[in-house]
Amino acid sequence: MTTRIALIAHDKKKDDMIALAGEYLDFLRSCSLTATGTTGGRLANELGLKVERKHSGPFGGDLQIGSLLVEGRIDCVIFLRDPMTPQPHEPDINALVRACDVHNIPCATNMTSAHLVLSQLQLRAAQQSVAPL
Ligand code: PGA
Repeated sequence: MTTRIALIAHDKKKDDMIALAGEYLDFLRSCSLTATGTTGGRLANELGLKVERKHSGPFGGDLQIGSLLVEGRIDCVIFLRDPMTPQPHEPDINALVRACDVHNIPCATNMTSAHLVLSQLQLRAAQQSVAPL
């Protein structure tokens, strides 16, 4: 089954997100990707990834992704948050992270956890692709 991943990065973390996605490019190409507006635009323009773009985070994009997650349509969230900058949509951010916890969906909020989650998902996908029928 295709892995469905949501990708979100705050402004000061967007370069990190591009670098991260670049490292997992082949795997991410095989996934179904959803992102907040600006993050998704950069992933599409700079890496050529096919991404379903939601609204920008401050305009409700986090909530849209949270809604998909609650409906069972997201398997994993990579959410590179900026802990040093106050965000106008802090309640939305908390709501999305809470929804991940309520529904037991992995949510990586920094580069190290993002690497751990993506490498594990990549491994699982590779194992499934060679599994005997
Ligand atoms: P953006 O939204 O990808 O549209 O910048 C992310 C955020 O700031 O929450």
